[in-house]
Amino acid sequence: MNKSLRKAVIAGNWKMNKNRAEAKALIAELVPLVSEAGCDVICCVPFTDLETARKAADGTNIKIGAQNCHWAENGAFTAEISAGMLKEMGVPYVIIGHSERRQYFGEADETVNKRVRAALDAGLTVILCVGELLSQREQNITGEICAMQTKIALQGVSKDALKNIIIAYEPVWAIGTGKTATSEQAGEANGFIRGVVEDLYGKDAANAITIQYGGSMNAKNAEELLDQEHVDGGLIGGASLKAPDFAAIVKAASRP
Ligand code: PEP
Repeated sequence: MNKSLRKAVIAGNWKMNKNRAEAKALIAELVPLVSEAGCDVICCVPFTDLETARKAADGTNIKIGAQNCHWAENGAFTAEISAGMLKEMGVPYVIIGHSERRQYFGEADETVNKRVRAALDAGLTVILCVGELLSQREQNITGEICAMQTKIALQGVSKDALKNIIIAYEPVWAIGTGKTATSEQAGEANGFIRGVVEDLYGKDAANAITIQYGGSMNAKNAEELLDQEHVDGGLIGGASLKAPDFAAIVKAASRP
């Protein structure tokens, strides 16, 4: 992390976990544990938990996010939710392009771009996920994959709108597997992505953008990962479902 240049952000991705009662209880447990956080704290919850989580987090330093949104404002898109609907609910953040969406639901770089632009237009802050498969890392094309995903996702996004984007580097092989990228691998990939942003938007924008690492980050490995210059926070899956574990990661990101 380099807190003199950019904001540290820890975001939980609850995925398809927690009903409303459980969501309320988890946020209530988290509130006192992260009230002194020296970083931004976000919980990205299932659509059905958004209202409950927002109310539970009201008046605290925890912000609520969704895990996807559609690019159209409205229309015949059964089961989809628009960015405007999230905004109207008072939800400020949305994850876009998570590898599970890419892997199981046909998400492509082009649709990621459409969602990103719609979310920005609606006034949301986007957590944009990019990252390579294991086979791609083994072919030494991690850089190419991350560059391509980042460039396509950001097509048509202005320098001003970039201020409302957080990038999460998430090597797919490290998500939910217990296999973490080494801190050097995470630092290197995050630094590379910052270079891609610099090529697109210039040095000041690249220095200012928050780039998280995600992939089996937990209470034990968080400090080491966050000590990397280019790792400005984390997108946390499994460990975000237990308040003490998530709070320990927030504490690691709160160090000066
Ligand atoms: C994620 O889903 O974004 C993630 C990083 O999951 P986990 O922490 O469980 O690997």
